[in-house]
Amino acid sequence: MTPAERRAALEEVAAEVRDCTRCRLHETRTRAVPGEGDPDTEVVFVGEGPGANEDREGRPFVGRAGGLLERLLAHIGWGRDDVFITNVVKCRPPANRDPEPDEIAACAPYLRRQLETLDPAVVVTLGRFSMASFMPGVRITQAHGTTRPADPATGARDATVFAMYHPAYALRNPAVERESFDDMGRIPDVLVQARERRAPAPPAPSASSTASSTASTQTPPDTTDQLSLF
Ligand code: URA
Ligand code: SF4
Repeated sequence: MTPAERRAALEEVAAEVRDCTRCRLHETRTRAVPGEGDPDTEVVFVGEGPGANEDREGRPFVGRAGGLLERLLAHIGWGRDDVFITNVVKCRPPANRDPEPDEIAACAPYLRRQLETLDPAVVVTLGRFSMASFMPGVRITQAHGTTRPADPATGARDATVFAMYHPAYALRNPAVERESFDDMGRIPDVLVQARERRAPAPPAPSASSTASSTASTQTPPDTTDQLSLF
């Protein structure tokens, strides 16, 4: 997929999310929060669901938890525009209650399509609900800071999943905040290993199988921006 095609596919998902009525959360939302970031990134962060600030602005992680996420990213020299940030549910649960299983299920196709489009090397889960979608059956106290191969059924074709605590939880617990900085510090190595174990992307289908143009038979350039590592 070319960067322009990726951008268009992500914008199509975002447009559907903004008008979505597939679950009851649409009744109480101000704005749906599809997610945002670099369409050509290798790393996708998946949170739980929008809070009050996100619901007002229509953007993910713009409140206090977002401030900590930005400090965590800065710890490894990245900014929010270097990655893609989204959530398991795209609309705010009222009074920040936990998302219900049927709401998570209703919203899952959007995250799956985002991951199919982004084809990340690494998916970072933020908190228990996001982790449960990618590492079923594990406990966050044990699984944070560790990796699993992503099930391709998540939409991430060949990704490594890395679990972290939710930044909102880290804000309430200094020991968890320290562990979150340690966990974030592992991500550059996780990315290097994920790149190595990853199969190359399948060739893009040519526009027409009968076309004689040489362009359609050449391997498309690798258009993914490589994140800088130090
Ligand atoms: N918490 C989340 O899980 N997601 C957001 O977008 C903001 C806060
Ligand atoms: Fe649609 Fe997801 Fe919002 Fe529910 S949470 S209304 S499924 S976008």
